[in-house]
Amino acid sequence: MSFFEIIDPVFKSFVMGNAPVRQIATGFSWTEGPVWFGDANCLLFSDIPNNAIMRWTPGAGITTFRQPSNYANGHTRDRQGRLVSCEHGARRVTRTEHDGSITVIADSYQGKRLNSPNDVVVKSDGTIWFSDPHYGIMTNYEGYKAEQELPCNVYRVDPATGSMDAVATDFNCPNGLAFSPDESRLYIADTGRMFSDDPQHVRVFDCSGDGRLSGGAIFHVINPGCADGFRLDTDGNIWSSAADGVHCINPDGALLGKILVPELVSNVCFGGRAKHQLFMTATTSVYSIILNRKGIQHP
Ligand code: MG
Repeated sequence: MSFFEIIDPVFKSFVMGNAPVRQIATGFSWTEGPVWFGDANCLLFSDIPNNAIMRWTPGAGITTFRQPSNYANGHTRDRQGRLVSCEHGARRVTRTEHDGSITVIADSYQGKRLNSPNDVVVKSDGTIWFSDPHYGIMTNYEGYKAEQELPCNVYRVDPATGSMDAVATDFNCPNGLAFSPDESRLYIADTGRMFSDDPQHVRVFDCSGDGRLSGGAIFHVINPGCADGFRLDTDGNIWSSAADGVHCINPDGALLGKILVPELVSNVCFGGRAKHQLFMTATTSVYSIILNRKGIQHP
């Protein structure tokens, strides 16, 4: 079997014929939020319905990192290497300090509770950007069913000052987000409202130096969806979740090729010793593949 679908010939140089898609762990319910810790030689990821953050260590396998996890979803690391997490259950974004204590980054906006923060990135200036769709409060499966108090926005928080702004307010349900290599662009997926047939696409915004967004055109329609999580390589190609695997999209919005995965993919991250290993959270499992690419991954 082939692990790839080549659409643009350039994609042949991104993948290696003798580097397979490997299932590195399975037995979960809905995996999400992969984040690589090279210093600890491990991958963390969420198993949202089981209220856990799991840890995969090469050669040693799976252990539990945190349970209960407040139904944590997406994760990233800030520029100091600390874990930053979206929590459906507590409806907040948190930072895990180096001593293990938890700091709340955001849990409300203009006096109203956040919905269920989904995914998060940190800009080089230390600001924390996250999406807040309603998936974690629509049912009791991935959190606690509750009334929605706020629209499904994207927020920017400056942890140095505590200031918080809604930077994108016209989404059905924003989800994965990531900056281009020079941070002049911010890509944000719209996965659509739960129980709807809303479109599945990634939008692109211009990001000014002071953190304002403009534009917001549809950049690429993920087909077959869903448009959930994604990360970029150092040349600005987007590696996005899709129903049939991971789609690689160039900075012009063209689909270059696919990594075929036997389960619906929710999110990805780069890791490994050369940031050349792509980890893919996919429904009940986590898969990995070595690419001839290098991911943007901080630190
Ligand atoms: Mg997500």
